[in-house]
Amino acid sequence: MQEYDIIIIGAGPAGLTAGMYAGRQHSKTLVIDKASAGGLGLEVPNMQNYPGFDLVSGMELIGKMKAQSEKYCEILENTVIDSIEKTDDAFHLKTKLSPLLITEEDDGAKEFLAKSIILATGASHRHLNVPGEAEFLGRGVAYCATCDGMFFIGKDILMVGGGNSAAQEALYLNHIGCNVKLVHRRDELRCENHLKKALEENGIDVIWNSTIEEIKGNLTVESVTLKRDGEIEDYKTDAVFVAIGDDPSNELAKELGVALDDDGYIITDKNQATNVEHVYSAGDITGGVKQWIVACGEGAVAAISAYNDMNL
Ligand code: NAP
Repeated sequence: MQEYDIIIIGAGPAGLTAGMYAGRQHSKTLVIDKASAGGLGLEVPNMQNYPGFDLVSGMELIGKMKAQSEKYCEILENTVIDSIEKTDDAFHLKTKLSPLLITEEDDGAKEFLAKSIILATGASHRHLNVPGEAEFLGRGVAYCATCDGMFFIGKDILMVGGGNSAAQEALYLNHIGCNVKLVHRRDELRCENHLKKALEENGIDVIWNSTIEEIKGNLTVESVTLKRDGEIEDYKTDAVFVAIGDDPSNELAKELGVALDDDGYIITDKNQATNVEHVYSAGDITGGVKQWIVACGEGAVAAISAYNDMNL
């Protein structure tokens, strides 16, 4: 059983910042992530609004943040929390390696105790939930332009969504040479004005008032059933990229009895404290303004609050 002052769950922008702040306060700190550090942050193609950087990709910034955090805390990647339990004076965590890394000889089972927990578990991609979406995942259906865009250079892509993510990812796909169109369910985009302007300037068309009802193909995606202004049509495409928002990853919060709002996001006070003593939360899992800089700010506050409340 390994003992820590603070265990942070999730190594995205919020978790990595919390790890750095916690470690710099000389709290023995561990950051655990079920995959590689970065979370959905890894998928951000380009950011122009992170202070100090004119333009930076999510991957580059996560690389820098991870290297900086590792100077002050331990980071354990590809590790899934099997259970988390509050005892009288600590939290007891049982973990295993992520399923892909488990072998017959070794499941990587470990146990940890922590005085405080910071939940920075983020969010996961929302799905369209239409026929063909699961079937063609990785064969024309994708949720990350930075990860999968290069497979469709010179090909036709429908990008579903009207928010900042869909707009940014469509611009990225256009930039690397894909023929991309947006499909949006309304007649107005939700994304910021500068992105609307960039879409126009780059000649990226929007198919308005439209939804994808089915994704079809043989080995790979070949077409979709498109419902446009109430009319059904068959529309040829090589790929469907989906960027329609995300859902909070709140399973561990529920296990700990942490209070959630109606949309499933963790409720915190201004110190990032939850309703459960010595449990804090930061980043996209707290809902609200989902911005990289906000996640970092919340991570810093959570780490400082955890330290102050422990009276180490
Ligand atoms: P979002 O802002 O919630 O937008 C989701 C989009 O998908 C909306 O246009 C929505 O349509 C559409 N949509 C939702 N469910 C749908 C469905 N079932 N079928 C078809 N369309 C559907 O999500 P996001 O763009 O992923 O952004 C998430 C958060 O991250 C936001 O807070 C965003 O501001 C932030 N973000 C910020 C930046 C930045 O650089 N500033 C970049 C990326 C993300 P409606 O418009 O009709 O609701």
